[in-house]
Amino acid sequence: MSEADRRRPEHSIAIAGGGIIGMSIAWRLARGGWAVTVYERAALGHEASWAGAGMLSPGGEIDTASPLAPLAIESRRLYPAFVRELEETLGSPIDYQECGGLDLAYSPAELDALKDRAKRQSDLGIASKPVAAGQVSTFWPRVRTDKLAGARFYPGDAIVNPRDVMSALAAACRARAVSVVESCSVCRARISPNEVAVETAHGAQNHSALVIAAGAWSNSISVSGTDPLPPVEPAKGHLIGYQQPQQTCNTIVRHGHIYILQRANGLMIAGSSVERVGFDRDIQPEIIHSLAERAGFLFPHLRDTTPSEGWIGFRPASETLHMGMWGSPRLYLAYGHYRNGILLAPVTAERVSAAINANLGMR
Ligand SMILES: Cc1cc2nc3c(=O)[nH]c(=O)nc-3n(C[C@H](O)[C@H](O)[C@H](O)COP(=O)(O)OP(=O)(O)OC[C@H]3O[C@@H](n4cnc5c(N)ncnc54)[C@H](O)[C@@H]3O)c2cc1C
Repeated sequence: MSEADRRRPEHSIAIAGGGIIGMSIAWRLARGGWAVTVYERAALGHEASWAGAGMLSPGGEIDTASPLAPLAIESRRLYPAFVRELEETLGSPIDYQECGGLDLAYSPAELDALKDRAKRQSDLGIASKPVAAGQVSTFWPRVRTDKLAGARFYPGDAIVNPRDVMSALAAACRARAVSVVESCSVCRARISPNEVAVETAHGAQNHSALVIAAGAWSNSISVSGTDPLPPVEPAKGHLIGYQQPQQTCNTIVRHGHIYILQRANGLMIAGSSVERVGFDRDIQPEIIHSLAERAGFLFPHLRDTTPSEGWIGFRPASETLHMGMWGSPRLYLAYGHYRNGILLAPVTAERVSAAINANLGMR
């Protein structure tokens, strides 16, 4: 397809879903010269991509060889340039901190488990180093050191504020003339050899290809003319936030299933929980309470403080992470990122746009 053809609306690529995944793909495709239309059921970036804590943390998330491991490591490598380019477009900074992550062990058994894990991670290319219990109070003065057996530091872990990334992606897509249609669900798609007919709440439109990036809702789109869509379901998670002086927590701090990090604006975030309860949006006080207790264990001064915020989001959980063609060169999936969609946005955008370029004749 010629460059002029690519820019014609009837050859445009449709994207269902305006979260971090859909918008990162839209930006990448638009930079490559495609006309792109994003259909968003509600408002851009108001679901999981608003809720996410924003850890970019192969050290915290990956400890076995799996298809996810190289993707997570690759996406972490892409992040500095991803943020830099977005900042240049936006003209203002994104809260992105190459702060590292600290895993704490409060018993010899926990310390042994950290060492074993670090060995497996080192084989995958994830570096960490031991930190003696006595050093923790020097560098992390607010962290509980009572009964601390030791810790492990992951220098490659980082954090980003996903809400900053979403604002920047919206601006970057606007600058590349991406058409963003909010309050407009994609309901159905009919795949045929030369095009895809996309039916939305506001009418039908033909496109060259459709990317389904509707997070935990991706299965709600009915697709005909190719293989059925693989399942995805919501894994609800709660987070809490405390407004604290800056530098109260200058890295990610983790113990077991709890993590704490601090945004540049001072908001200290503690998470998280996992509930399989469908799309129930209620905030459960007992889960907020349990997160606050665990945060107060790691940072004892938080015991005297009530969280200033609590929120939930729906992680898109599926057996396999999908980022590529599905059954036809007219259909691409980009969902199932579960706990790591903020981290995986750059690599997903690269893979999906490369597949579209390869299949639809663009280099
Ligand atoms: C509590 C919590 C903590 C997390 N922490 C981290 C973290 O620290 N690091 C990390 O990497 N990841 C984290 N995640 C995961 C991450 O937030 C998700 O994996 C990521 O945001 C998924 O992005 P997405 O664009 O696929 O989905 P979403 O952001 O949910 O976007 C999907 C969009 O599609 C729209 N949509 C739905 N149906 C349709 C339709 N039919 N037509 C058009 N649009 C539709 C929705 O309105 C929504 O805007 C966390 C998630 C949660 C909930």
